[in-house]
Amino acid sequence: VQGIPHSLEKLIEAFSRFPGIGKKTAQRLAFFVLKSDKEIAADLANVLIEVKENIRSCEICHHIAEISPCPICVDECRDQSILCVVETPEDIFLFEKTGFRGVYHVLGGVISPLDGVGPDDLNMEDLLERLQNVREVIVATNASIEGDATALYLAKLLSSMNLRVSRLARGLPVGGHLEYVDEATLLRSIDERVEIQ
Ligand SMILES: [Zn+2]
Repeated sequence: VQGIPHSLEKLIEAFSRFPGIGKKTAQRLAFFVLKSDKEIAADLANVLIEVKENIRSCEICHHIAEISPCPICVDECRDQSILCVVETPEDIFLFEKTGFRGVYHVLGGVISPLDGVGPDDLNMEDLLERLQNVREVIVATNASIEGDATALYLAKLLSSMNLRVSRLARGLPVGGHLEYVDEATLLRSIDERVEIQ
């Protein structure tokens, strides 16, 4: 942009890389930082670095946490025999709000041939390794074509094992992501989950 100093331009560019932030919002944020005390800018810089340094992936479930294994995996009050398979760590936060007391496994995505994502690109192998004492796997991938395909793949993969495999009930918007579902609907879709194997 004409007339905008280079370092300010760089900040605008950095903000516009964030999801949901358009050029205009990026500009507003950058000007906010510019007008703020130096302390606020330093704080922002620090928390950005801290979050990258302190947050790791749980070695068991791949959830994000400051320690590994994460607090959910080591919580003895939880039912370790019900395992909810989700696409992303963000999904776990949604399930936690419903009061779900099982444990989780983060796949890290869904099978999507068009995007070049196959089963080997997801956290499937170590999912198989943790099923000894599991009696039910709830596949909670999104209600999308890829989410459904991934659920079917998992059902097939687990078919030789002596456990129940279920899928969240519909009532979730088709193609919709879990993040747009309210807690009550999500809770209902857990309660009314359907057996797929
Ligand atoms: Zn964990």
